[in-house]
Amino acid sequence: MSEWHCELCGEPAVRDTRPMEYEYKGRTITLDQPGIYCDSCGESMLYPEDLDATRVAIMDFHARIDDILGPSAVKSIRKFLNKTQKQLSDILGGGANAFSRYERGITPVPKSTSVALTLMAKHPEDVETINNHPLYSAS
Ligand SMILES: [Zn+2]
Repeated sequence: MSEWHCELCGEPAVRDTRPMEYEYKGRTITLDQPGIYCDSCGESMLYPEDLDATRVAIMDFHARIDDILGPSAVKSIRKFLNKTQKQLSDILGGGANAFSRYERGITPVPKSTSVALTLMAKHPEDVETINNHPLYSAS
């Protein structure tokens, strides 16, 4: 006997990982989505931990369409720059938890931050200059 029952039809349901199609702005992506699936009526039930499993991939997909950096790109650039999340927040703003939220796919990366990170990745030698000097100096 299944430990899960369908919230819609009440029939036994199974925990499984199945391909699920996500659409965003007319484009689609198919991801392996864990969840509780009902084979009787086709309903799927996704719990917070199930949504956590695909959040970064979905946000990476949205980011490609919106021409901003996605969570994976932010993390790889941050690692490339050898910075902690807090160090990048100190340089680029957004609050102490900004980069944690970007990298977990909780918050989309603002376009301005995407552009700044892209430039920083292309010119890593300039990052310390930015970090150590006020943007505007009175002269
Ligand atoms: Zn059902």
